[in-house]
Amino acid sequence: MQGYLGIDVGSVTTKVVFLSKKGAILWSTYRKTMGQPIWVLQSALSDLYHELTPTVLGVGATGSGRGLASHLIGADVVKNEITSHAVAAIRYYPDVQTIVEIGGQDSKLILIRDGVVIDFSMNTVCAAGTGSFLEHQASRLGLRVEELGTIALNATSPVRIAGRCTVFAESDMIHKQQMGHNLEDIVAGLCDALVRNYLNNLSRGKDLREPILFQGGVAANHGIKTSLEKELKKEILVPKYFSIMGAIGAALLALECEVKATKFKGFRIFSHHLISSSFYCDGCPNTCGVMEVRDGNEVIARWGDNCGKWSSTT
Ligand code: SF4
Repeated sequence: MQGYLGIDVGSVTTKVVFLSKKGAILWSTYRKTMGQPIWVLQSALSDLYHELTPTVLGVGATGSGRGLASHLIGADVVKNEITSHAVAAIRYYPDVQTIVEIGGQDSKLILIRDGVVIDFSMNTVCAAGTGSFLEHQASRLGLRVEELGTIALNATSPVRIAGRCTVFAESDMIHKQQMGHNLEDIVAGLCDALVRNYLNNLSRGKDLREPILFQGGVAANHGIKTSLEKELKKEILVPKYFSIMGAIGAALLALECEVKATKFKGFRIFSHHLISSSFYCDGCPNTCGVMEVRDGNEVIARWGDNCGKWSSTT
C-alpha cells in the first residue's frame, strides 16, 4: 500500500497519519508524547508497519519536535504548525476563514482568506489558554479532562472564574467551590475562563470571520466549543479529524510537493534501541548545543549545529 506519512510531534501529544496517494486517511494515531518523543515515534511507526506494511512515498513533519522527527525518520517536507494546520483545514473546508487551534502547551489563531494564510498569532507562554491548564484544573477537581465537556454542558449558571493566569484561576476556583457553587457551573466557568484568556491573548484587533474551525486536542471538549460560540456569537465547526489536523497537513504537503525519491529512512528504526544525548561544540564562539541519537555505536542523527559540522557527518 503506497502513500504519504505525516508526523506532528508536540510537547504533549504525537500524531502520525498515513495518507493514500489521493490524500485519504488510511491510518492514524494520536498518543501522549510523555517526554519520550523518540520512543513514541518508534512505537507509532511499529504499529503502522505491522498493521499496513505500507510503502512510504514521502514524509512531512511538523510540530515543535519536527526537527527531531525529520532527522530521525527522514522527512521530505518540514513545516511549522501554522502551515500544516491551514493546509489540512483548507483540504476539508476550502472556504475556511479562521482556525482556532488549542493544543496541550500552546494555542494559535490563524486567519485565512481565499485559501491563503494572511495572519496568525501564537501563545506559547501563558498556560491559561491551553490544554495543560484544563488538564491541571480537571485533576484538581478529581476529574478526567475528557469529562469536562459533558459536565460543562449541564451548567445552568456558569460562575465567572478569573482566567488571567493559572494561579489566579486556581485560587478563584477554590474560592467558588468554598462558596458552594455546583461542579457543573464551576466547570463551565473554567471553560469560559480558558476561552476569554485565549481571545484576550490572540484575537485582539483581528477579524474572526466564519467559517471558523476549532482544531487541536482541546476541540474534543464540547464545553470549550460552547464557550467560544457564546463569546464570539458565531458558529464554531469542529472537523472530524480535529486532533490530527497538523499531521494530515504535513502529509498533504509531502504529497503536493511530488517527491521524486523520499528521504524516509525506512521502518527499521522502530526495532532499534536508540539513545539520545547532547554536547556543546567548542569549534567557534557559537558553542552550539548539538543533539545526537545513537543506535549502538552508530550515530544516526545529529542536529543543532549552525554550520553543519556535525550533522553533515550522519
Ligand atoms: S557547530 Fe559549527 S557553528 Fe556551532 S560551535 Fe561548532 S563550529 Fe561553531
